[in-house]
Amino acid sequence: METPEPLEPLAETWQRALCIVAHPDDMEFGAAAAVARWTRQGKWVGYTMVTSGEAGIDGLSPERSRVVREAEQVESARIVGVDTVEFLHQPDGVLEYGVALRRLLAAEVRRHRPEIVITGNFHDTFGGRSLNQADHIAVGKAVLDAVRDAGNRWVFPEQLQDGLEHWGGVREVWAAGSPRSGHAVDTTETFDLGVRSLQAHAAYIEGLGWENWDPEEFLEGFARPTGQRLGVSFAAAFEVFSMGWGE
Ligand SMILES: [Zn+2]
Repeated sequence: METPEPLEPLAETWQRALCIVAHPDDMEFGAAAAVARWTRQGKWVGYTMVTSGEAGIDGLSPERSRVVREAEQVESARIVGVDTVEFLHQPDGVLEYGVALRRLLAAEVRRHRPEIVITGNFHDTFGGRSLNQADHIAVGKAVLDAVRDAGNRWVFPEQLQDGLEHWGGVREVWAAGSPRSGHAVDTTETFDLGVRSLQAHAAYIEGLGWENWDPEEFLEGFARPTGQRLGVSFAAAFEVFSMGWGE
């Protein structure tokens, strides 16, 4: 067997991170344990959900699903120490990458002024043949652009009123669960909180109808081999995009 490629530890010299993902549950499928670690360190982490995942439960209408899924997300965020959860109410399943989405996300970055922006994997696959989902790809690409947009006062200048300033302080964008991850963070101590935060999506998980699916076993299946590559028991992997020039 080949020795797995080692992963570098992620930087933790920051105070504010904003997580921007397409759906409730996107953070909980792997990254939430890392968030729990950071909030324990006293860092501020906020969540922005582009949709409310309202098209995610087959047996529930979007109107009812939206309410259930937002409540589950707020609870699942609370478990990992996140108090700020915002929903942008864009249409689940049919997000389009483009200027409209960049505008919305740039406004979020300008309002929260993070040093790190976290999103999900936005490559075509999760590695191998597991295809990624269209909303994830649209959001991840738009996040990268919106971080740049947020720093340019001449892009979306209509946002810069009532004291809102442009914000060029984002050092890096991190894509959780990317097949091209070169970095990881030790989640050994907070793995259980990550499991609980995924379990908080109870109605969603039930709606998936996966028989005998165990959130803990599922998360361990990723965290353990990732941990091995970092030299710890459990870890979460991220692909790092530097937002500076010449780095
Ligand atoms: Zn998703």
